[in-house]
Amino acid sequence: MSTYDFDLFTIGAGSGGVRASRFAAQYGARVAIAEQQYLGGTCVNVGCIPKKLMSYAAHFPDDFSDARGFGWTLGEAAFDWKTLIANKDREIERLNEVYRKLLKDSGVRILEGHAQILDAHTVSIDGRLFTSRHILIATGGKPTLPELPGCEHGLTSDDFFRLNALPNRALVCGGGYIAVELASILNGLGCEVTLAYRGTQLLRTMDADLGVFLAQEMTKKGIDILFEADLHAISEDAGDHSIKQVTFKSAKTIETDCVLFATGRHANTRGLGLENTGVRMHANGAVMVDDNFCSNVASIHAIGDVVDRIALTPVALAEGMIVAARLFNGAKATMSYDKVPTAVFSHPNVATVGLTEAAARQVYGKLRIFKTQFRPLKHTLSGSGERVFMKLIVDDRTDRVLGVHMVGAEAGEIIQGFAVALQCNATKAQFDATIGIHPTMAEEFVTMRTAL
Ligand code: NDP
Repeated sequence: MSTYDFDLFTIGAGSGGVRASRFAAQYGARVAIAEQQYLGGTCVNVGCIPKKLMSYAAHFPDDFSDARGFGWTLGEAAFDWKTLIANKDREIERLNEVYRKLLKDSGVRILEGHAQILDAHTVSIDGRLFTSRHILIATGGKPTLPELPGCEHGLTSDDFFRLNALPNRALVCGGGYIAVELASILNGLGCEVTLAYRGTQLLRTMDADLGVFLAQEMTKKGIDILFEADLHAISEDAGDHSIKQVTFKSAKTIETDCVLFATGRHANTRGLGLENTGVRMHANGAVMVDDNFCSNVASIHAIGDVVDRIALTPVALAEGMIVAARLFNGAKATMSYDKVPTAVFSHPNVATVGLTEAAARQVYGKLRIFKTQFRPLKHTLSGSGERVFMKLIVDDRTDRVLGVHMVGAEAGEIIQGFAVALQCNATKAQFDATIGIHPTMAEEFVTMRTAL
């Protein structure tokens, strides 16, 4: 009989922590999970779920406008921010309870409060001490604010989901996932949006063509994108504190009602007591773990955004299942970060799986590249100027498809299927042998015949 209170003590009830805890309990472990804020973590509360709901809301003006070309006459549309936020909050509360029930039904003990690790086997929750054979850190990440004068006048993505009202004007700072998603939502809901990015290409970690194409499409929708635009300072207007004056390093100035920082996220390890254990961390605060998600302290493990590998919910879920199976079911599997598909819910959506052209060229040398861009059938009548972009990257020697990339409506829904094909090492010949579904956008992926 173990002398510890628990076999697994998970800190953080987000996607990864909840999944690992439930699976560990199903394998027979005695599990506790500590959470100081909300069940479901970033994804459920201030990330994927509310973002996608708000993205749906922001699509309606395009739909109303598209409808005219199909013969519809609609009355004047009106949008109520408070209704959207209240409905979104109600859905999140429902999900919080779903998580609570899932944990309880699995036999996981939920401990509410701030957890601090005291030593390799002891955790304190607001002064109450618990011992555990294993400790799992799954505390996720937090938005990072750039250090500049007046940055306290800016908001983060966490704040965005709690805004009392839709701002008339917003400046979104950043060029990554969150920046393009929030800029698209605000723009779709009727806010005048400027997107300021310090670099020259949006989504710069993805295939270069995606960022270029997305910038064109977002610009068509009315977003003012400023490249090489590095913020210098923010101040409040002396007469009206709700107005922000933003100065760029180039000396350009902009007046806006809201500055939203989407300038990256960092591991949430402060105040966790890691200094009490000697657990090693990266310079950015992320917990250092090996292939088994084990830190340099044998009983302390970490998964999800707090280890700073790929900050995506499905990745954290997979990591959680691997840790639980290794610790409590004798499994030996490790995590593969190859061919992780991902989607950005900008308007239009971006989705991708596999290698970028630049990365593929480095590894494989000679490639065949297939690209197409076109007006989807729907927009032949809708009057919308929105276009779709698709790209395939093929290894010339083996004919294997190395990357599938898309910008366009429902790109995430389409790329998910192609992610399976890439997992199976599909070749271009097998893509070509696949019958298309007509008329769809996705059929273009199996009908591109001429390499560039
Ligand atoms: P990203 O890493 O995607 O983008 C951060 C952006 O902020 C980059 O454009 C970066 O510029 C810029 N930046 C960083 N520091 C500064 C600074 N000091 N001043 C100005 N700009 C700065 O981070 P996000 O916060 O957007 O998202 C974090 C992660 O969360 C993503 O990488 C993704 O893994 C996950 N996520 C996933 C989503 C999805 O699945 N749809 C949605 C949202 C987030 P530069 O490029 O020059 O470094």
